[in-house]
Amino acid sequence: MQSFQPPRRILMGPGPSDVSPRVLAALARPTVGHLDPAFQDLMEEIKAALARLFNAPGHACVPLPAPGTAGMEAALMNLLEPGDRAVIAVNGVFGGRMVDMAGRAGAEVVRVDAPWGQPVDVAAVEAALASGPAKVLAFVHAETSTGVRSDAAALCALARRHGALSIVDCVTSLGGVPVDAAAWDADVLYSGTQKCLSAPPGLSPVAFSPRALEAVAARKSPVRNWLLDVSLLMSYWGGEGGRTYHHTAPINALYGLHESLVALFEEGQQAVFVRHARMHEALVAGLEALGLEMLVAPEHRLPQLNTVRIPEGVDEAAVRARMLERWDLEIGAGLGPLKGQVWRIGLMGASASPWHVRLCLTALADALSAQGREVDLDAALAAASERLG
Ligand SMILES: *Cc1c(COP(=O)(O)O)cnc(C)c1O
Repeated sequence: MQSFQPPRRILMGPGPSDVSPRVLAALARPTVGHLDPAFQDLMEEIKAALARLFNAPGHACVPLPAPGTAGMEAALMNLLEPGDRAVIAVNGVFGGRMVDMAGRAGAEVVRVDAPWGQPVDVAAVEAALASGPAKVLAFVHAETSTGVRSDAAALCALARRHGALSIVDCVTSLGGVPVDAAAWDADVLYSGTQKCLSAPPGLSPVAFSPRALEAVAARKSPVRNWLLDVSLLMSYWGGEGGRTYHHTAPINALYGLHESLVALFEEGQQAVFVRHARMHEALVAGLEALGLEMLVAPEHRLPQLNTVRIPEGVDEAAVRARMLERWDLEIGAGLGPLKGQVWRIGLMGASASPWHVRLCLTALADALSAQGREVDLDAALAAASERLG
């Protein structure tokens, strides 16, 4: 065997996003024991930073030792017991994954579909909640498969009104658009590190409200997933009364998350959101100048995930392959019913920069003209530059 030397890529797909040199450097710092007092200080700082980022001052906030899907699993497995009714909104891949998981937890799932490319249908969710008491309402705030943002405030308010606990998938939203557990009065929120936090994949920040923790304590049966049982996790991460060994925290990965949070708060949360919005506007202006169309209506678009319709007659896989080979630039393909219909261009975290926007437009124009399409790159760059200032 030889050491693995990855190619140098620019990541503008649906995640992972580019990891900044300072986060990569943090990952390489010396490993300490997970019960070392210095490491425990780091754990406390991460918990506090996550509570600030979710705006969840009263929630139990911890990073789970596995990617975003583990946050989803933790939310559903802790709150749901066999026979519980769960209303789950589906407007893309990740809502569908929640339905599958809730079914495996033994829940009676009421699925509320909305077309891919549209936000969660608030009225349809309300009708489902009104049709009988539900323990949980789960939905995806930022659907990465379509690039759509749903109305988390309205959906969490509906859950409260109908006595259900809300589960909000914030994997792609956290750090890209405002997430506000306190204002929404949301119960369980989860995210991932490789989207807008721009750390490597492998951790899932979660937040559990006091109401959610009470519901877990009142379960008739133990949580069926031992690793993700929030009561056991909090005996490790909680700090009060000393820590008891539960698992070995992924120490160096947590150095990376910590550094990405330091960077985020240095820049300022508001500034980070403004940067994502500006890069998105510039990219869309450039794409439209190339003659391309967006899938999602402007008012529902996510700045950090841009779904672009593939023009007729274009070999979409060949375009992505050329961008990767010639430009070392990765963008994403469509999933499910959008396979072959869209490209997904991420502007997440460190990948949301003017340089990324210009490079992506240049690479895409090159790949499109290689397919014989007439594109005006100068016009696209000028349109983007106008928004970049
Ligand atoms: C990426 C993503 C997930 C899954 O996260 P992994 O880190 O891939 O496990 C869940 N939900 C949404 C909305 C995502 O974008």
